[in-house]
Amino acid sequence: MRGCDIAIVGGGLAGASLATALAPLGYDICIIEAVEFKTDGQPSYDDRTLALSHSSCQILRGIGLWESLEADATAIRKITVTEFERPGQVVLDAVDMGLSEFGHVVEARRFGAHVTRILSNTNNIRVLCPARVMGVETAGQKNTLQIESEGVEDKLTASLVVAADGANSFVRTHLGIAGQSHDYGQTAIICNITPEFTHDGRAFECLTTTGPFAVLPHTGKRCGLVWSVASDQAEHLLGLEDEEFMKNAQDRFGSCLGAFKKVGKRTAYPLRLVRSIEDIGQRLVILGNAAHAIHPVGAQGFNLALRDVAVLAEVLADDEHGDPGNAGLLHQYSHWRGPDQDKTIRYSDGLTRLFSHPSALVAGFRSTGLLAHALIPGLRRRLAINAMGYRGRIPRLALGERLVIA
Ligand SMILES: Cc1cc2nc3c(=O)[nH]c(=O)nc-3n(C[C@H](O)[C@H](O)[C@H](O)COP(=O)(O)OP(=O)(O)OC[C@H]3O[C@@H](n4cnc5c(N)ncnc54)[C@H](O)[C@@H]3O)c2cc1C
Repeated sequence: MRGCDIAIVGGGLAGASLATALAPLGYDICIIEAVEFKTDGQPSYDDRTLALSHSSCQILRGIGLWESLEADATAIRKITVTEFERPGQVVLDAVDMGLSEFGHVVEARRFGAHVTRILSNTNNIRVLCPARVMGVETAGQKNTLQIESEGVEDKLTASLVVAADGANSFVRTHLGIAGQSHDYGQTAIICNITPEFTHDGRAFECLTTTGPFAVLPHTGKRCGLVWSVASDQAEHLLGLEDEEFMKNAQDRFGSCLGAFKKVGKRTAYPLRLVRSIEDIGQRLVILGNAAHAIHPVGAQGFNLALRDVAVLAEVLADDEHGDPGNAGLLHQYSHWRGPDQDKTIRYSDGLTRLFSHPSALVAGFRSTGLLAHALIPGLRRRLAINAMGYRGRIPRLALGERLVIA
């Protein structure tokens, strides 16, 4: 049986970011990841284009990931929000906030390439991959994980276990921690698309009754497309010839970037909300999609997880007990993160339900809300601050500080 201070189950976007954030604190860290990195089947590091908020980029800078990631990142300078086939738009401009950008767009696959290189070059991080957690026992001063790797079973003890194993978290369900789930009946189709005109750092989000149609600035002349449709329409759109797909996308988006010229591989993601009723347990933290998998409207999911990472790293850095799994510390983390998690989940869930509501009265209310945001600078400013990921008590990493051990 092997042992470590902190075992992170799942080396995806959230788990790998956490390991990178905790490494400078000197803990002996072990990541257990089921699917080999750099393979097409890796579920976290795929073709998704991730819109990372300003605060997320600060956190990534603070944990030493941004320096290498920046070369593959595209700045978001303007955000235009509209409602499909209804008048009015809200335009947020970073210059109005005294900033050069609201955040950046990075492809999840590129993020994976950078973070896994850092993981394998960090002395106090052990990566077990491919290795799957098949059992968890919580008892006394250590939790024990049962791990299976290429037919061989082993056990690993840890003072703290972090479940970062995705929306269908094995660890959460195995420990009997319930999750609330809601199927939106929507599927996001993602792909890269090359429009006629350069994006100039502009991001567009058109809200429709079946979810957002978002066009994000990407490297080169490409844009990342996230098109949320009714799930029974997804197969049809996935099966269309490229020309036909671009024509459909163009009809929805309009011509502000000119004609769509080229489209990449399309991938579909059924959309649902999954929220764990607890985010901590006995010597346990539930992180990322395992704690809250949310609708991509507003591009909040990984941004929320990165704020969780920053706070967990901060409470661990400030702790003087030397036991990363002690209950007081975990409660401090949970108490701090609760309000931001609640608000972010309510925001993305509320927006999705509001825009899929069929009533004309609700549609009128939506248009009035959009118009109010367009006309009232205070509301626009609040929207921009939320989009940048600054709400509630802000962790030091998001303020651009590095963590030092207490
Ligand atoms: C279409 C779409 C667009 C999105 N766009 C954005 C965006 O623009 N901005 C943003 O902030 N967020 C966005 N998100 C959300 C973002 O993708 C998620 O927040 C993020 O993937 C969560 O990462 P995670 O590491 O928690 O979970 P996952 O990505 O699911 O990773 C979990 C990892 O755990 C591993 N694992 C699972 N079970 C085990 C086990 N038993 N043992 C060992 N390993 C295991 C898996 O192999 C996987 O690598 C988007 C989501 C979707 C669907």
